[in-house]
Amino acid sequence: MPDLPITLWITFAGVLGLLVGSFLNVVILRLPERMAAGWRQEARDILELEAEAAPMPPGIVREPSHCPQCKHPLSVLDNIPLFGWLLLRGRCRYCQMRISIQYPLVELLTAVLSALVVWKFGPSWPALAGLVLTWTLIALSGIDFRTQLLPDQLTLPLLWLGLLLALLPMFVSAPTSIIGAAIGYLSLWSVYWVFKLLTGKEGMGYGDFKLLAALGAWMGPVSLLPIILLSSLIGALVGGGLIVLQRHQREVPMPFGPFIAAAGWVWFVAGPDLLQGYMHLTGLR
Ligand SMILES: [Zn+2]
Repeated sequence: MPDLPITLWITFAGVLGLLVGSFLNVVILRLPERMAAGWRQEARDILELEAEAAPMPPGIVREPSHCPQCKHPLSVLDNIPLFGWLLLRGRCRYCQMRISIQYPLVELLTAVLSALVVWKFGPSWPALAGLVLTWTLIALSGIDFRTQLLPDQLTLPLLWLGLLLALLPMFVSAPTSIIGAAIGYLSLWSVYWVFKLLTGKEGMGYGDFKLLAALGAWMGPVSLLPIILLSSLIGALVGGGLIVLQRHQREVPMPFGPFIAAAGWVWFVAGPDLLQGYMHLTGLR
């Protein structure tokens, strides 16, 4: 890596994060649409029905961005991450329709988290891997929030990448990574079945198991308990907050994926520091 001041690297990561966040917005919107269209197609094939007349939803990379309401293509200026939305004050330039706050939020979040990863790991290969982990977790969280799905297209490559990085090794050794993946999957899988046998309800989905397996592959089995505890804590805080603000009914299921993802990210960047702080606070050390 060239010898540049760390602040420059952090700034660079932030700007890169804005651009990537803009792409993640498209993934969050279009990947589930394309998955659903694919399922409909498969179901029709199996039932030996004629192919659907409706065209496939737009691809993730090819289609240029346009206003979902008036279909007017966006200008270069409107497309600038975060600032485009701020300049337009959240409304389409052509039809005045409100533009979802999801766009600037995802861009800002991606920028801030990317900058934090580079601040933590410095300009290094682990930082680059950490950015890929961060971006995938943001895409997964956004999709789970919107559709209650955690696509295999994202969880499984994340799992493979964690296992492959352990061959170097980068964050954990290969045996640690493999055991982490297996225990990550099986722990939530058993909770799911115990819960289902006791209550007849499904508390989470298979995507959650795969996501925790991926995090286990990246960070090893020791990270799993803190991640689950942390995700329950974040989930309780966010869920409680939403109920207090009456923005969310108690009966509507909350996706669990975003909380696992958030806890996994926090542990990835600050796990040892948090543990030390906790032990210090409780007088264990
Ligand atoms: Zn419009």
